[in-house]
Amino acid sequence: MASDPTEDLFRTIDARRDELVELTRELIRFPTVNPPGEGYRPCAQYIGERMRSRGFAVDYVHAAGTPGDSERHPRINVIARREGSAPGPCVHFNSHIDVVQSGAGWTMDPFAAVVKDGRVYGRGACDMKGGLAASIIAVEALIDSTAVLPGTLEISGTVDEESGGYGGVHYLAQRGWFSAPRVDHVIIPEPLNVDRVCIGHRGVWWAEIETHGRMAHGSMPFLGDCAVRHMHAVLDRFERDLYPKLAARHTDMPVVPPGARHSTLNINSIHGGQPEIPGYPAPCVPDSCRMVIDRRLLIEESLDGVKGEVLELLDQLVAERAGFRYSIRDIFEVRPTMADRNGPVARSTAAAIRRVIGRAQGQVHAGALGGRRRIQPQRRCPRRRPRPARRRQRARS
Ligand SMILES: [Zn+2]
Repeated sequence: MASDPTEDLFRTIDARRDELVELTRELIRFPTVNPPGEGYRPCAQYIGERMRSRGFAVDYVHAAGTPGDSERHPRINVIARREGSAPGPCVHFNSHIDVVQSGAGWTMDPFAAVVKDGRVYGRGACDMKGGLAASIIAVEALIDSTAVLPGTLEISGTVDEESGGYGGVHYLAQRGWFSAPRVDHVIIPEPLNVDRVCIGHRGVWWAEIETHGRMAHGSMPFLGDCAVRHMHAVLDRFERDLYPKLAARHTDMPVVPPGARHSTLNINSIHGGQPEIPGYPAPCVPDSCRMVIDRRLLIEESLDGVKGEVLELLDQLVAERAGFRYSIRDIFEVRPTMADRNGPVARSTAAAIRRVIGRAQGQVHAGALGGRRRIQPQRRCPRRRPRPARRRQRARS
């Protein structure tokens, strides 16, 4: 009886367990801390040399001029590609090589990659040098266990994921490195539970809304215009006209947790009035109140629609509320995205997980990971509204 090729492959991978641990440790030993983006070049070269020795063509892409790029900390990405012996799709494994700062409280050197009680300890062991090593070992095992490999395999090690991806995935994606006809499928072995196949995420819009007032002494508020009261009007409008709408909007995306399956809006912070000196509360009428909102949007919504909905409420207040002026500034935005849940990658990954650990779930992440786009602060002009004639008349009488 012919042997099952997938079983053969799994056996080949299992036989390389020690090699997988050693590769993970080697990768952790590059202290690719970001910021500032330490050791990117040697880490990329290490991956490139390994893949070249396995017959891959290797490109190093320097994301010149992207945030943080300098002579001392160059943003160097590595992409390795191996064409198969027959035509077929290209499957690309992408991992980021940067790690966040190690921080305090470690009981061992975070870059020594110590193995203790069957675990590898080190910064990036989980996120995501372990994933990178796993994809390299899997791809090498596949090449070694198959006589005819249809299609193309790619492995990339990219930078700056922890700081927005400008010099990494963002830079490469803009230049077509992950697009058809070069690449057909991308798998990112980020750590999101062993039984989870993450196929997308909701979108994000962070913005700062500021209401403007006029300062006066607190004993004579009628001489000023309270920006905090104007912000209260914004919140009141959100409660009345926006929150019920958002709660009623449901997505077809399999987002986890289920509570995140509709549109949400968080008020992250509000700051109003003059800064306080401890023991001396601010005595004036606030001339400014700022609020940061975090709006999570569904794949069924558009960023423009989501922004327009908030602007419409604010513009209504400009038209209806005496003295109401505001400005709004985009801080951060991510478009919602979702791969085909019945596509070949999602289905075969779920099947492989079931085969190895006996269970699998296809899920969309509630937050947004990767693909982030930070926006340069841009202030909209405050919108002024002439006082309505009706009020002016009333004030005179
Ligand atoms: Zn990560």
